[in-house]
Amino acid sequence: MDRLAYRAQHQEAPVNQTSMAAGSVRQPLADEDPVAVIGAGWAGLAAALELVRAGRPVVLIEAAANPGGRGRSLDLDGAHLDNGQHILVGACRQVLAQMRAVGVDPEVALHVLPFALPLRELLAEGGTRGFSLSPRSTRPWHLATSLYRALGGEKPSRRLKAMLGAARMLAQAPDADLPVAAWLRRGHQPPALIARLWEPLCLAVMNTPVAEASAKIFQSVLQQTLRGSERDARLLIPRLPLGALFPEPALASLRASGAEVRMSTRVTGIAPRAQGGFELGLRGGDRLHAGQVILATAPRAAERLLPVSDALAPTRRALSALGARSICTVYLRYPKPLVDLPPLTGLLGQHGQWLLPRHLNGEPHWAAVVISAAEMYPASDARSRWQQVARELEATFPGLGNADFGRVVCEPSATFDARAGIDELRPDVRTGMSGLYLAGDHCARGLPSTLEAAVQGGLQAATAILQDAGRGGAR
Ligand SMILES: Cc1cc2nc3c(=O)[nH]c(=O)nc-3n(C[C@H](O)[C@H](O)[C@H](O)COP(=O)(O)OP(=O)(O)OC[C@H]3O[C@@H](n4cnc5c(N)ncnc54)[C@H](O)[C@@H]3O)c2cc1C
Repeated sequence: MDRLAYRAQHQEAPVNQTSMAAGSVRQPLADEDPVAVIGAGWAGLAAALELVRAGRPVVLIEAAANPGGRGRSLDLDGAHLDNGQHILVGACRQVLAQMRAVGVDPEVALHVLPFALPLRELLAEGGTRGFSLSPRSTRPWHLATSLYRALGGEKPSRRLKAMLGAARMLAQAPDADLPVAAWLRRGHQPPALIARLWEPLCLAVMNTPVAEASAKIFQSVLQQTLRGSERDARLLIPRLPLGALFPEPALASLRASGAEVRMSTRVTGIAPRAQGGFELGLRGGDRLHAGQVILATAPRAAERLLPVSDALAPTRRALSALGARSICTVYLRYPKPLVDLPPLTGLLGQHGQWLLPRHLNGEPHWAAVVISAAEMYPASDARSRWQQVARELEATFPGLGNADFGRVVCEPSATFDARAGIDELRPDVRTGMSGLYLAGDHCARGLPSTLEAAVQGGLQAATAILQDAGRGGAR
């Protein structure tokens, strides 16, 4: 429904009160309108859980039948796959904490790759190891010396400059943001190192190519991953379907705590009420009253749902500045199980960028190949895309054989565009309208569009609501 028309048809409707489970949570007042959380992605779920823990009545509304948003399970041709292959690192502390809080043990649910191992094995090129970096640990000295060794083909003076440049880059964020490519050149990184290490790493982390990606955000990720404990640098590959990692147990936990959950329900409009709070229009004509609203959808959907108000112009501008980048995941099915492949291999100079056999997830005949920033790598159709990826894999891993079937899942708005300068433009969780908040991966400054950013964004929104309520109500 058009937002203005929706306002004109404004009607009073009974508020659906939520009864909270007894326990440590604060009991809501009888006439307290719930907080409406729109979107059961990782951000919305984290926000709803945090509010329920603080004793606030919550109604969670999700357009899709299943939770998880851009990080969700997907059954394809009878196989348990995901909407896209996801990888975490040990530094994703809020994700891991949220998983634990809903009863999922990360040590069981995630396959752990110790830091040095994947770098040594990581980047395959035409059947051989394309690039080898094998630091003994994340200590700066070990990182620097292994980089020096890996640059064996370069003159000693260039190796030294590159080593010192990398150490400086890791230790210090750039004063002003600039594209990663320019930052790497300033750090004396040789072109071969950029092509074989930094480019694939930046694309994987940022879903944005080095020519455009924000050096500030990339540096912040590198620093959080490599300058913390060894555990922060571990790569974590899901063993469970994405839904089972957090979204489904989170939903169960919310229901058990008395939160109202409305799945398969699309919010069509949000209107502030004269007496305070909001009225939400739902597809099918239902209405719902809320004291506060957290808009935890992806940026474009959030922009469409914002009420018409001059006070929201900066929020609207920030949301539209985020842009979008796509990720395609090519799923290939092989006649024989792929148990001999390493859990993660980088593919240099190919249409696909990372290969992950799915035997870890109980699907031994399937492999996932990730294509980040996929808008830069067009294919005429899905079939030609998976066939090209399969041909290149067969050439790289001669024992692999031929895939007998493939599927391509492309998410055109998988992430925001993490270009230089984007952090300054990102929206705050507090909007210009009292009681209306945003949540999502786009809100967590300093991080690219990731599950960790989504969870942090959700927690920030819940914290803002609780803080504002503590100051005597919504701002
Ligand atoms: C293919 C792919 C690969 C990725 N790989 C990684 C990775 O390896 N590591 C990593 O950390 N991150 C990865 N990401 C990014 C990560 O998935 C996202 O950053 C994260 O899921 C965003 O969560 P969110 O809750 O902010 O938003 P979303 O997941 O977009 O959640 C928004 C929710 O709002 C719902 N919604 C929208 N409109 C309405 C409406 N009108 N009414 C009700 N509900 C509505 C949507 O259905 C959705 O469930 C990947 C993403 C994709 C797509």
